[in-house]
Amino acid sequence: MPGQPSYVIIGASLAGAKAAETLRQEGFDGAVVLIGTEEERPYERPPLSKGYLLGKDPRDSIFVHAEDWYAEHDVDLRRGVTVTLIDRPSRRVGLAGGAAVPYDRLLISTGASPRRLDIRGGDLDGVLYLRTVGDSERLGAALRGGGSVVIAGAGWIGLETAAAAREYGCEVTVVEPEATALHRSLGPELGEVFADLHRSHGVTFRFGEGVSEVTGSGGKVTGAVTSAGEELAADTVIIAIGVVPNAGLAAEAGLEVDNGIIVDEALRTSDPDIFAAGDVMNAFNPLLGRRIRVEHWANALNSGPAAARSMLGQSVSYDRVPYFFTDQYDLGMETAGLPEPGTYDEIVYRGDKESGEFIAFWLADGSVVAGMNVNVWDVNDDIQALIRSEALADPDALADPDVPLTDL
Ligand SMILES: Cc1cc2nc3c(=O)[nH]c(=O)nc-3n(C[C@H](O)[C@H](O)[C@H](O)COP(=O)(O)OP(=O)(O)OC[C@H]3O[C@@H](n4cnc5c(N)ncnc54)[C@H](O)[C@@H]3O)c2cc1C
Repeated sequence: MPGQPSYVIIGASLAGAKAAETLRQEGFDGAVVLIGTEEERPYERPPLSKGYLLGKDPRDSIFVHAEDWYAEHDVDLRRGVTVTLIDRPSRRVGLAGGAAVPYDRLLISTGASPRRLDIRGGDLDGVLYLRTVGDSERLGAALRGGGSVVIAGAGWIGLETAAAAREYGCEVTVVEPEATALHRSLGPELGEVFADLHRSHGVTFRFGEGVSEVTGSGGKVTGAVTSAGEELAADTVIIAIGVVPNAGLAAEAGLEVDNGIIVDEALRTSDPDIFAAGDVMNAFNPLLGRRIRVEHWANALNSGPAAARSMLGQSVSYDRVPYFFTDQYDLGMETAGLPEPGTYDEIVYRGDKESGEFIAFWLADGSVVAGMNVNVWDVNDDIQALIRSEALADPDALADPDVPLTDL
């Protein structure tokens, strides 16, 4: 409608779709244009390495909204459309093909893309990455064929695809330059717990090595060469070496970018009419007192709505405790906080970590800075409250299962 403000969202995935939903819930009645490169309507990615990859979750279950939700809420969802330019002086976004869409306020929720491994043989048939539903379908088809799988990277995607590949009956080797799994996310102590879980399910690790070449025959993968010079037989090579934020558009538009789009606690960029949310943002977290870029589902789920409220002029301070979950084999876990190496000086366990049911608390200077519950449920909110309190913690009480977490 002429005269009505137009709010444009670049990136039609979880953060973008949740932002559009919030704009409508909060009563915004201007235009909402949600533009995404993918042909699918917004969907959730966690099932792509778990239930959907394993053929257990139906395709319909992965979408953020029902097909007709967008029309019902007057959200102009443009699928298969890539934004190529943010023209700040004229307040327009340019689309591939030449069209332009005007905006009064803009949200960038362009997410992240898998880091590519630029090595000889890296483009052979059978070298796979995992980010989109199409990637998951290709990977599922490859794993159903069985055979040998080499995975480059023992991060979350590497380990979740390792678990799926074992469930499909494949031989699995994970090649990782660090000394243990999940090193950068959890540190060596808990990383080793996950490595042991996978070893007990028949996964082989080659720590301290990278994948330096993929070999093939007739255009198809036959093996992966490690940096130690050994060739491992492979029918499928999965590259899972992390993601890079899709911040190029923002940088070209002159917005401040440094490992993602820099935003303040209200998720506003260096341009007061442009906001960012989800994997692509590097946000100042007032609770932690520093900027963080979080590549997790809950951050997309919560920051999209927070950014939408900020676009509407509401007072927003995005101070959530980072939260992550995973499911691998029969292990389910949630982690609150960012227990990266160098950020803690002590770990206290409640329960026996060998038993597969325990809570781990990471402490720095006597306070809990992160916590993980493994096959123990309904405690993560209490762990988050402990982190928020910044109180000195008694390690004996932390370790004692008879002391309720709410009494710590
Ligand atoms: C396989 C997999 C499993 C995961 N499992 C877990 C898990 O168990 N737990 C957890 O906490 N997190 C998990 N994650 C992470 C979680 O899915 C992400 O944090 C989340 O998807 C981020 O959402 P987002 O909306 O910020 O960005 P994305 O989901 O990356 O979406 C960004 C969208 O923007 C589009 N886009 C980019 N540039 C443009 C452009 N110029 N124009 C138009 N559109 C554009 C992209 O095509 C994409 O659709 C997983 C991720 C993957 C890939």
